Amino acid sequence: MPAVWLSLSQNSPDILKQFDQLVVGGGLAGSLMAYRLWKAGQKVCWIKTSPHGSSTDVAAGLINPLVFRYLTPVWKVETLLPQAVSFYRQLEVECGRQFLHEITVAKLFGDQDQVLWQRKIRLPKVSRWVESIGAVADDPKLIQPWGAGFVNGYWLDTTMFLLAVEQLLSQHLNIIEGYFDSSKLEQSEEGIMYENSIIAKKLIFCEGWNAVNSSFFNFIPFRPVKGELLTLKIKDWKSNYLLNKDVFLLPIGDQFYCLGATYDWGDLSDTPTEAAKTDLLEKLKAFLPLGVEVVEHRAGVRPAVADRRPVAGWHPEFPHLAILNGLGARGLLIAPWLSQQLLELILNDKEIDAEVNPLRFWKK
Ligand SMILES: Cc1cc2nc3c(=O)[nH]c(=O)nc-3n(C[C@H](O)[C@H](O)[C@H](O)COP(=O)(O)OP(=O)(O)OC[C@H]3O[C@@H](n4cnc5c(N)ncnc54)[C@H](O)[C@@H]3O)c2cc1C
Repeated sequence: MPAVWLSLSQNSPDILKQFDQLVVGGGLAGSLMAYRLWKAGQKVCWIKTSPHGSSTDVAAGLINPLVFRYLTPVWKVETLLPQAVSFYRQLEVECGRQFLHEITVAKLFGDQDQVLWQRKIRLPKVSRWVESIGAVADDPKLIQPWGAGFVNGYWLDTTMFLLAVEQLLSQHLNIIEGYFDSSKLEQSEEGIMYENSIIAKKLIFCEGWNAVNSSFFNFIPFRPVKGELLTLKIKDWKSNYLLNKDVFLLPIGDQFYCLGATYDWGDLSDTPTEAAKTDLLEKLKAFLPLGVEVVEHRAGVRPAVADRRPVAGWHPEFPHLAILNGLGARGLLIAPWLSQQLLELILNDKEIDAEVNPLRFWKK
């Protein structure tokens, strides 16, 4: 710490609190980073607003290893998926809650899909994720003239996850509920000071799509995407599959299902729209023409980057500032691996994967 901050902290311990790490943001990225730093023995201060309405809170929570449009594996999925599953399982044990569930994804085929799938499953990198090709059995109400392909996926209950992690960390970290205001940040050669009261060696920004307003990381071409979801009640019909055809229908218990999701790059409010609701319901009707009751309608904004890769690493000019962001539409799959990458950079100076380094956008 700078000598002047240190002497202040020694003379006024109540005014200045010292930490190894300051984490900003209480969504998926911030929760994982705060957790990993704490587990690594760091003294962490976590500044967060309520996660209600964050992308993580709104998210459907799906983890699907394949991109259905082209039937290709998701970016780095062979590394990301095993890490994600073992990470969330370990966290479940620590929190004493189950929030990760296995689910079979049934991709209902369009007229060209059967041919595409038969061709692509000859590739081991695709076939390893495919359970079978056939049709959803014993479901006369479902329209599936070209059959379906089945894939092993996961569903993570993000609202329960956020609560469980916060409950765990509240016993170990200094958590400050509130908005981090960058104009109250001072930097020196040794670290940062916030609001004249908190000093830390490093500051990690995990602000979700609000990073578009960042004073420091605005050189990254963020391209946030709004998404909307409906919670439906469907009587006299039951499915254990996550059905997918233009939209997905996820069973979340009893007669309730989550229907999603839309993509809108223009309107970045978190206000649900009638247009999105109509669009989702019409797409559902094309394969499941049943009466449904809409019980909830939610909207959020995914923090995405123009090159469709996440970002994690140091700021090129401010050596105490780091970022974890750009999780896009697949945050649950990416975040465990990405937060581990950033942890090793921060604590062990291990080089970060070039594809996620914010330096890729830096032009002097
Ligand atoms: C409709 C929808 C469906 C989705 N479905 C899926 C899915 O099925 N599977 C999947 O993997 N992903 C899905 N996602 C994407 C997923 O939600 C994101 O990838 C991930 O949750 C992003 O996490 P984050 O922590 O970066 O951002 P967020 O969850 O948005 O968290 C950022 C938090 O930081 C807070 N914050 C920002 N600035 C400050 C500040 N200055 N001070 C204090 N706090 C601050 C924000 O208020 C927010 O709480 C979906 C997203 C949406 C919108």
